[in-house]
Amino acid sequence: MRNKALLYVTIGILISLMVVIVRPQAVDSLLQSKWLGEVALPRYTDGSERQSRTPEAIDLVSLFPDIVVRQWRPETKKIALTFDDGPDDVYTPRILDVLSKYNVRATFFLIGNAAEKHREIVRRIQREGHEIGNHTYFHSNLSRMAPWQILLDLGKARRVFSDITGEDVLVVRPPYGALDPPAVKAIGDEGYNILLWTVDSLDWWGLSKEEVVQNVVPRVESGVIILHHSSGGPDEDLTGSVDALPEIIETLQSEGYSFHTASEILEEIRIQNEMKKKAKEAAKERARGS
Ligand SMILES: [Zn+2]
Repeated sequence: MRNKALLYVTIGILISLMVVIVRPQAVDSLLQSKWLGEVALPRYTDGSERQSRTPEAIDLVSLFPDIVVRQWRPETKKIALTFDDGPDDVYTPRILDVLSKYNVRATFFLIGNAAEKHREIVRRIQREGHEIGNHTYFHSNLSRMAPWQILLDLGKARRVFSDITGEDVLVVRPPYGALDPPAVKAIGDEGYNILLWTVDSLDWWGLSKEEVVQNVVPRVESGVIILHHSSGGPDEDLTGSVDALPEIIETLQSEGYSFHTASEILEEIRIQNEMKKKAKEAAKERARGS
């Protein structure tokens, strides 16, 4: 009798484990269902940007130059526009309208569970020539997680993006910019690159159009990566941010800047590093020959 009970309990545990591994979305929707009182954590597991972000940035670029990018050194006046926390059906479509009007391509770091809710917007981002980056599945604070948890979360979002777009998304931006060295190493070992930012529009503070323009335009120089948001937490208003976009783009285009995406940045850095390596080898060869 006891053996039988034990067997049933074991089978129950095994089935639950399989559900968690094979169909994690099923567990999410179960936890979010009304009859369970929506016990699942909300989309912003660790709070909105404003609640959780620490202003001081950790410089991981020098520790992991092959994995982490904060700025790059293009030969011409190139910059990048990036949008975090989308997609949603309020701000993201308006941003896409502006970008399309000015023929600018950007990178959208999307949250996995938001992408599942707005699949058509994700397809529109892709269709209009923009790039998608991984901003985790739960908007999780990676500096508080073990490497295996980080990879599980990123992998889950990666599956969502490939399911919707057919593309393998290998560029990551950590929510809140929160990272520590073990996290970076684990992410890099998995084949991802991490794209941070140089210029923060601070639009997540719900600033006015003028304030957002002021936070961005004077700080732009060649190779900067600009951070905006394409969706916010429940109390975050991005109207000023969206309204500022046309002026930011017009001003920077008139100054001769062109806009580039994450994969273009990474490719340019890869070529530059290769050239540096070759030049070093050639110098060594010459030293040996003389
Ligand atoms: Zn974020």
